[in-house]
Amino acid sequence: MQGVGPELARKLAALGIETPRDLAATYPRDYRDWRAPAPIAEIKLRAMERAGAAGEPESSEEIALGRVERVNEFRGRVPVVSADLRDSSGVLKATWFGRRGFAGKLSPGDRVFVHGRAQLKRSRGALGVELNVLHHRILGEDEVYRGAIVPVYRAGKELSSRAIATLIEKNASALEALLPDALPDEIRARHGFGSQLEAWRELHRPASPESAAAARERMVFEEFFGIALAAALKRARRNADGGAQPLFAPPGLLDEFQAQLPFPLTGAQRRVIAELWRDMGRSAPMNRLLQGDVGSGKTLVAAAAIVLAARAGVQSALMAPTEILAAQHARKLAPLLLPFGVRVDALFGSLGAREREATRSRLASGECDLAVGTHALIVDGVEFARLGLAIIDEQHRFGVAQRAALRSKSRAPHTLHMTATPIPRTLAQTKYADLDVSILDELPPGRTPVQTFVLRESRKAEAYAFVRKNVARGRQAYVVVPAIDETESALTSALAELEVLRRDVFPDLRVALLHGRLPAREKDAVMSGFARGEADVLLATTVVEVGVDVPNASVMVVLDAHRYGLAQLHQLRGRVGRGSARSYCVLIAPDDMGDVERLLVLARTEDGFEIAEEDLRLRGEGEFAGTQQAGGGSALLGSLTGDFALYMRAKADADALVSGDPGLLRPEHARLRALLDAQAETRAMLVSS
Ligand code: ADP
Ligand code: MG
Repeated sequence: MQGVGPELARKLAALGIETPRDLAATYPRDYRDWRAPAPIAEIKLRAMERAGAAGEPESSEEIALGRVERVNEFRGRVPVVSADLRDSSGVLKATWFGRRGFAGKLSPGDRVFVHGRAQLKRSRGALGVELNVLHHRILGEDEVYRGAIVPVYRAGKELSSRAIATLIEKNASALEALLPDALPDEIRARHGFGSQLEAWRELHRPASPESAAAARERMVFEEFFGIALAAALKRARRNADGGAQPLFAPPGLLDEFQAQLPFPLTGAQRRVIAELWRDMGRSAPMNRLLQGDVGSGKTLVAAAAIVLAARAGVQSALMAPTEILAAQHARKLAPLLLPFGVRVDALFGSLGAREREATRSRLASGECDLAVGTHALIVDGVEFARLGLAIIDEQHRFGVAQRAALRSKSRAPHTLHMTATPIPRTLAQTKYADLDVSILDELPPGRTPVQTFVLRESRKAEAYAFVRKNVARGRQAYVVVPAIDETESALTSALAELEVLRRDVFPDLRVALLHGRLPAREKDAVMSGFARGEADVLLATTVVEVGVDVPNASVMVVLDAHRYGLAQLHQLRGRVGRGSARSYCVLIAPDDMGDVERLLVLARTEDGFEIAEEDLRLRGEGEFAGTQQAGGGSALLGSLTGDFALYMRAKADADALVSGDPGLLRPEHARLRALLDAQAETRAMLVSS
C-alpha cells in the first residue's frame, strides 16, 4: 500500500488492519457534519438552555466559524491558548490545551473553523461560551468555507481517525479493486441498490447523512448476504447428502407419550417435539438446536425423540458435560422411558472396568437402546450397533470436534443439540446458521420466580444473615465462588471462604464444598448428599451451573458476581427456584466497582433471551468469534443486533437463491462462487457447527 512504512504498518496492525483487504473493509463508525457552522449566538443559547436544565452545566459538541480577535497564552505545565472568536452574531472563547507554541500560529484577523465541546462559563462576572477545541482549520483569506461530512474511523492510541481517512483516500483506487461486488444484478435491482463501488465511495465521503445511511445499508446487505449464503449452501449440502434413516412417528405417538407423564406437556414442549419428529422423519439428518431456559423441560423433549428412535429400532446416545449431570439424566430418563421398553445404560469414566465393558458390549450388540454418558461415549472402542439419534446436552460445553465425534459413531445420525444458555437470535442466525433452531419459550407451571438483588461486598454479612434465616426455615442455600484455591489471588477463593464460613459465619450449620477438581465420584457424593438435605449450605464453584436439581435450595449467594457473564449468572441462579418456595439470588459486587448496570439486568428480568441479547449488546459483538473476520481484526460493518431486520432480508434472498441454484452454477452467480472461495476461511469461522 502506498505510504505505509513499517511504523505505520505496526500501528495499523494494532487496530487489526493487516492486509489491503482489511483496509478495504475499514469503514467509518460515525460522521461529523461540518457543513454548516452554527452562528455563535445560537451556540450560546444552546449552552444556556443546558445550564438551565441541569444543575451542572454540560458541554456539547459544536462547530463554529469566526475571526480571531485576541490571542492569549497561559504557559503552565499544561499550556493553554485561548482566542476570542467573533462572527456576525456574537463571540466565544476558543481554548486549546497542551499545544505549546500554538499561540504563534494564530493571529488576530485569522478566519478559523473550530470543532469542540462548548460550555457556559462565567468569567469576570459575565456569562460566555467557552469551546474546548478538538479540531480546527485556519482558512485562507479568500477561501470559501466548504465544510464536508467527515468520516470518523475507529482510531487507536497511536493512529488518529484522520490518519486512517488519509490513508484510505490515498489508496482508494487500489482498495476499490478489492471490492467483490458479488451481489447478483437481479437482487440489486430488486432492492434498488447501486454498485458496491458507489456505495463504498459514498460511505467514506458522503454527500449527506441520508446518502451515507443508504450506502451503509447497501454495504451491510452485501456483507450479510455473504454470511447467509454460506449458511444456506451448507444446509443445502446437508439436505442433498441425506444418508440418515428416516424415523417415522406413527399417529398417536404423542398421546401415548403424554399418557405416561405425571403432568401435561407445555404447549412449547408439544410444538418442539413435533418439530423434532418431523426432522427425524427425513432422510436428511436432523441438525437442530434446542434452546430453552433453565427448567423449561428440555429433558422431556429429548425423551420424546428417544422414544421415537427406539420405536423405529435405532439407538440413541445422550452426552452431557459432567458426570453429575449425566447421572441425573440417566436416573430421570430410565423410569420415563421404561413404559416404552427403552433400555438405558450409563457410560462414565468413573465406572469400573467390568461395568464399562458390559455397557460397551450392550451398545455394540444393540441390547441397549439409550446410552447416557459423558465424554466416555466418544472414546475409541465405544461402538453402537445402529446409532440413529445423537443428543448433546449443554452443547456449548463441548468443542466442535467432540460433537462431531459423537455423530461419527454412525453414518448420519439425527442430531439434537441442547442448551440452556440462550443464544441471541442474532447469533443463532449467523454463528449457528446451519442449525435449525427450536425454542422452549414457556416454563412449566408452578415455577417460582427467583428474586435477584445486587449487594456490595461490604454488605456480604447481610446476605449471609439472609441465608441463615432461610436455613432456619428448613431451606438450603448455595454460595458460589469463582475460584477454588489461592492461585487467583484477587478472587475470593473457595477454600478460604470455606474456612470463613465454617469457623465464623455458620459454625453451627453444615457447610459442604463442591468444586471441579474433586474426583468425579466425590463430586457426585457431595451433590447427592446436598440433594438429600445432608448439608445446609453448599459452597461451590460454577460446577453447580449445569442442570442439577435440588428443589429445597431457595437461596443463592454469588460472590464476585462481576466475574461472570450475564448468561452464566442467569444459568447459575436457575439452580434455585426449582421448588415451590420463594427463591432468592444475591449477587455480590465489589465496593469499588462503579457500574453495576450489567448485573442489574438480572434483577430486572428473568427472560434468558433478553439477558443474552443485553449481554451481547453490553459486551459488544466483536467479542463473539462469529462476527470476527478471519485474518484481520476488522469486524463487520453491519451490527447483528442493530441491523437484524436487514439480515433477515438478506437471508431471505440468499435462501431463495440457493433453492433455485444450490450449486451456484449459473453464470450470473460466478462472482458469488469466487467470493465464497476467497473468503472460505472467514466463512468457516462464521458458520461453525
Ligand atoms: P432443563 O430444560 O433445564 O433441562 P428439565 O428438563 O431438567 O429442565 O426440567 C426441569 C424440571 O421440570 C424437571 O423436574 C421436570 O420433571 C419438570 N418438568 C418438565 N416438563 C414439565 C411439565 N410440562 N410440567 C411440569 N413439570 C415439568
Ligand atoms: Mg437440562
